[in-house]
Amino acid sequence: MIFSSTVLLLLHRIIYFCGGGVVAYSVANSENYDNVGNQKKKVVVLGTGWAGTSFLRNLKNPSYDVQVISPRNYFAFTPLLPSVTVGTVEARSVVEPIRNIVKKKKVDVDFCEAECYKIDAKKKKVYCRSTKNDKEEFVVDYDYLVVAMGARVNTFNTPGVEENCLYLKEVEDAQKIRRKVIDCFEKASLPNVSDDERKRMLQFVVVGGGPTGVEFAAELHDFVSEDLVKLYPTVKDFVKISLLEATNHILNMFDKRITVFAEEKFHRDGIDLKTGSMVVNVSDKEISTKEIKTGKISTIPYGMAVWSTGIATRPVVLDFMKEIGQANRRVLATDEWLRVEGTNDIYALGDCATINQRKVMEDISAIFEKADKDQSGTLTVKEFQDAVNDICDRYPQVQLYLKNKNMSSIVDLLKETKGDVVKEISVDEFKSALSQVDSQVKNFPATAQVAAQQGTYLADCFNRMDKCEKHPEGPIRFRESGRHRFRPFRYKHLGQFAPLGGEQTAAQLPGDWVSIGHSSQWLWYSVYASKQVSWRTRSLVVSDWMRRFIFGRDSSQI
Ligand code: FAD
Ligand code: MG
Repeated sequence: MIFSSTVLLLLHRIIYFCGGGVVAYSVANSENYDNVGNQKKKVVVLGTGWAGTSFLRNLKNPSYDVQVISPRNYFAFTPLLPSVTVGTVEARSVVEPIRNIVKKKKVDVDFCEAECYKIDAKKKKVYCRSTKNDKEEFVVDYDYLVVAMGARVNTFNTPGVEENCLYLKEVEDAQKIRRKVIDCFEKASLPNVSDDERKRMLQFVVVGGGPTGVEFAAELHDFVSEDLVKLYPTVKDFVKISLLEATNHILNMFDKRITVFAEEKFHRDGIDLKTGSMVVNVSDKEISTKEIKTGKISTIPYGMAVWSTGIATRPVVLDFMKEIGQANRRVLATDEWLRVEGTNDIYALGDCATINQRKVMEDISAIFEKADKDQSGTLTVKEFQDAVNDICDRYPQVQLYLKNKNMSSIVDLLKETKGDVVKEISVDEFKSALSQVDSQVKNFPATAQVAAQQGTYLADCFNRMDKCEKHPEGPIRFRESGRHRFRPFRYKHLGQFAPLGGEQTAAQLPGDWVSIGHSSQWLWYSVYASKQVSWRTRSLVVSDWMRRFIFGRDSSQI
């Protein structure tokens, strides 16, 4: 055993050559073997955001050797980024070094600050590039790859956005916005500036009426009205905040009551809300918008524009999709176990992927055949009931459909088709009973909540990989034999917040329970304090909130 381990160790010390330069990546040491001498499986994790970090925090099985690759050596608590843009919370309070997060783990975890620029699924290698000036390149091989690279900002190819707008996606973006806001106020306060120019400099435009854009507009309004008007009294009357949204309403994904409240509140606060207005061009000083209804083009001179209209797939993921036969899709597709379709050992989670939920109607004949144990060509109620749990486990849309129709079990569906006395059903009756369930197939939203739950789920699968290989605990495979190793991923929606400024927040909790106002703001404070990844960031965030209550926000230009 000792001999074979040594040979394996030597074999593992392979040097790769790539591009012009020689790039070595060699990680073998005695730690690459578990305590019975088996070589540990190498897991490469791309990304240290919500999905990647949640996977790392929950991975407990020491039989893996984990290599994390990300251009960021920290995890960022994105829901607090809008607060960072105006200094309600400091940037360093919302980040935690990834090395801190993994240092106490029993699993071997290594970190490389680099970006992955190519995934080779056939050779099981990822090609990486250091983010430092030298841009050194290296190659890492894997047994399992976990892609959690998040997404990029979507500009919809609108001319001038990249050059002239600020984004709100990363910590650096929030810091840039903070500096820019103060910059606009200081420049507008210089003596020789004309009133027109002052007005332009203090026109802040937010593009996108989703939760991020709305929260940022609200934070900016609070910053201006609570702190800056006192510090810049001579220019305060020139300040204007505009929020542009292409559809007819802001916060479309929320309950109508929240949308109405938010729109009315912004109106009262003097935030200029322009709905039905699409940005078509951005120059260095002007934003051109097109009114959707009339096609009328108008321009807004601006001092700072923040673009927050949603996300798109990263180029490296697009290239990977081409390689694995997903070129015709816009987002990387995985199955319900988060495994990338068209690959064996690659998983993708968070904003960089969507689950391509299998339709019941695609498998309906196979389901019927499996359920029809005596192969009589009909299903008895007993046969049907035996298969129900597996059907509901494998196809979550069935349960959603039943819930929407207020039905307690799938047998009720049959009763709907066949009347009250169901004894046996034919394949056609089976098909017609289940014909509508696929209408409930939904994509999960691109949120931290989904990403974090997927990370936890995948880590749990990895923790029990060997056990479940031997004793599968998933539903029956309807199209093949045996069972799936694991139960598919299920998302549990815990609710959603939309902070609206002035210590008021809208909360939409499960069961469509809506609460708006100061009490929800306190709920928001407690949820976000409790969700922090460490006691260090928790105490920093809470003390930032207290500092802000006592002293206001800091407007120093540093
Ligand atoms: P990310 O968290 O974006 O992480 C991606 C990781 O991949 C990063 O570490 C990045 O550095 C790394 N990476 C990038 N390129 C590469 C590469 N080439 N190679 C290797 N690594 C790479 N969601 C909520 O649920 N609630 C909220 O209140 C909320 N508020 C938000 C506020 C803001 C301002 C923003 C921007 C987002 C907010 N979200 C919120 C959404 C949430 O942040 C995302 O859905 C979540 O971050 C997705 O997690 P992820 O791990 O997929 O991606
Ligand atoms: Mg039968």
